[in-house]
Amino acid sequence: MQITRIAPSPTGALHLGNARTFLVNWLLARQGGWKIILRIEDLDGPRIKANADRQAIEDLRWLGIDWDEGPIYQSSRTPHYAAAVESLLATGQAYACVCSRKEVEAAASAPHAEDGSAVYPGTCRGRYTSPAQAVDLTGRPAAIRFAVPERIVEFEDAFAGRQSFDVANQLGDFVIAKSDGTAAYQLAVVVDDVASGVTQVVRGDDLLDSTPRQILLYNALGLADRIPRYHHLPLVVGPDGRRLAKRHGDTRLSHYRELGIPPERVLGLLGRWCGIETPAAGIRAVDLLDSFRIERMPREKIVFSSEHEL
Ligand code: GLU
Repeated sequence: MQITRIAPSPTGALHLGNARTFLVNWLLARQGGWKIILRIEDLDGPRIKANADRQAIEDLRWLGIDWDEGPIYQSSRTPHYAAAVESLLATGQAYACVCSRKEVEAAASAPHAEDGSAVYPGTCRGRYTSPAQAVDLTGRPAAIRFAVPERIVEFEDAFAGRQSFDVANQLGDFVIAKSDGTAAYQLAVVVDDVASGVTQVVRGDDLLDSTPRQILLYNALGLADRIPRYHHLPLVVGPDGRRLAKRHGDTRLSHYRELGIPPERVLGLLGRWCGIETPAAGIRAVDLLDSFRIERMPREKIVFSSEHEL
């Protein structure tokens, strides 16, 4: 059986951009007979907003997007992440790092990852025998980084096509557990996708460069046969080309709901952004199932502008 997951981060309300990605995920799953798991990615402590999980669930239901299992909260799965980190430390594929963010930025000379974050220069790699020793010697809290091997990671993305990354040089050793012990996104996603038997990942292409990191983690954990099929979709952006956000106006689903705009109208717009000619009066999610064709999805970013006001 094919299994996918819809994985909102409760760091804010769902807007038209997230909604389109989740809709495509749902359409692919329901067309293909895949099981859908709802997963709430609530590990990013300071950025998590109270009740945003409940709001996301209501928003999805309002759109007519349903799921077969969950919600599974990442915050309830801490021991599983800790076990994966331990095993990577034990096999020498991860190490303790006591560098502060400032130090990483200062130490990283020219190469910067595409998202503007500094490529970690490997300062702490090989320095300490264990996280406990790193803390004892420096008096600082230690994060855990994955030691990225020198190799090119290639994969065939079902939507974005062939991808190739030199992770060591383009992205560097990345954090898998923060210094407060919380698992980092890259690790948690892999551990959860394996535990849920996920075979199909559909998400925004802002996460394209997370995929080679996640593939390296599957390999390092001896789970190469569990690597899912990836579909990375172009994002919705504002007229300035930047990812849809508050500055482009209020595109939260809750906002349309408060204005009394029916979900069919929102789905009409989302459907057009998926290459479907939808009626002016709007459409229900289930009624998009007949006409949705992934091959007809626009390949370029969707630019949200005032003509899309609902
Ligand atoms: N929680 C992420 C998001 O809302 C999705 C992560 C993933 O699909 O791997 O963008």
